[in-house]
Amino acid sequence: MKAGELFLPGSKIGILGSGQLGRMLAMAARHMGYKVHVYSPDRDTPCSPVVDREFVGGYEDLDQIREFARSVDLITFEFENVPHETAMVCAEHAVVRPDGRVLHIAQNRSREKNFLAENGIPTAPFFLVDSDDSVKAAGEKVGFPGILKTASFGYDGKGQVKVNSQEMLGKAFEELKRQTCVYEGFVSFDKELSVVAARNGRGEFAAFPVFENTHADHILDVTVCPAEISPEISQAAVATAKKIVDALEVVGLLTVEYFLSRNGSLVVNELAPRTHNSGHLTLNAAVTSQFEQQVRAITGLCLGSAELLKPAAMANILGHWWENGEPDWNGALRDKRVKLHLYGKAEPRKGRKMGHLTVCGETVAAAGEAVVRARQLLGGETKMSGKLASGRFI
Ligand code: AMP
Repeated sequence: MKAGELFLPGSKIGILGSGQLGRMLAMAARHMGYKVHVYSPDRDTPCSPVVDREFVGGYEDLDQIREFARSVDLITFEFENVPHETAMVCAEHAVVRPDGRVLHIAQNRSREKNFLAENGIPTAPFFLVDSDDSVKAAGEKVGFPGILKTASFGYDGKGQVKVNSQEMLGKAFEELKRQTCVYEGFVSFDKELSVVAARNGRGEFAAFPVFENTHADHILDVTVCPAEISPEISQAAVATAKKIVDALEVVGLLTVEYFLSRNGSLVVNELAPRTHNSGHLTLNAAVTSQFEQQVRAITGLCLGSAELLKPAAMANILGHWWENGEPDWNGALRDKRVKLHLYGKAEPRKGRKMGHLTVCGETVAAAGEAVVRARQLLGGETKMSGKLASGRFI
């Protein structure tokens, strides 16, 4: 199958995974005249109401996967923890974009870090930990403080332990059940940034302006765009993303998460071969949303403009906003610039991403302040969250 092969509207796109990223991707695809089938182990998912067909089955159930793959022309995914064999089986029956190699690298922190190092892209110092001997060597080589992270299946801070000493590192390895891990040096950073980049099969490239992200309890909390950084840093972040997507020959989207370290250098934290939570504001603030861009990139259509129309900010709405009953939606929407996105999840569990708010403003600071204020009005929560590193949203 040639990387440049074109899938015109009317073709069937299959998505592995059926969460909010799949939902927004499916909506963009249907908007452009594509049919969408999804596959995941769950029922009544965010995708159920917006797709043509939903397959329910485990990612290891290769017979079901085969049936799903035969039902579509082209397959993509909304999360990277799809087993390698599953992606391979999909590729026997349909075109998979990005291909299994990209998935294989991005789903494992060790392979990912080695790929980046081989391509001369700065990361935090790291060392593979899979035995007592390597625990010792990792501490000596990388030093303290650092973070021990499971090599696979980590997200939103899960499977990570911060450590300050050799003894803590040993305990952390036990705590993580002696799974293969990567131990990395702690980066003291000023800001966390991300770039969502797209590349189609003809090598066309587009990247949204740099996003600036703040986290709360290891989960993305607020994103603003464009990031308040120098033009040089911004160009360097996009150039590094281009280098990565070209080296991996990505056909689709790839998000690069960065730390901007205190000494002003960019360090790659991790890669995600898909749309990203930080890119949600493109739905309201960019010429082309990240979801439409993924559809264009994987189908071989021309990429859309990634230009931002206005400075914008996004605040996540997690399950805890339902603790005292239904959130006050009208409270949040009183500011008429506020856009509400909900993912149709029935159960608002703590820490679960239920939706987000977006505001476009005259400046990044104005958009950021407005989106945090709007979110507070959802529940009158007294604890202020969504503070940017500079503290100006307090
Ligand atoms: P990750 O799952 O790797 O994206 O990590 C989740 C969050 O933990 C990041 O967004 C950072 O806030 C923090 N973090 C992860 N790795 C490091 C590191 N090496 N140094 C400092 N903070 C980190």
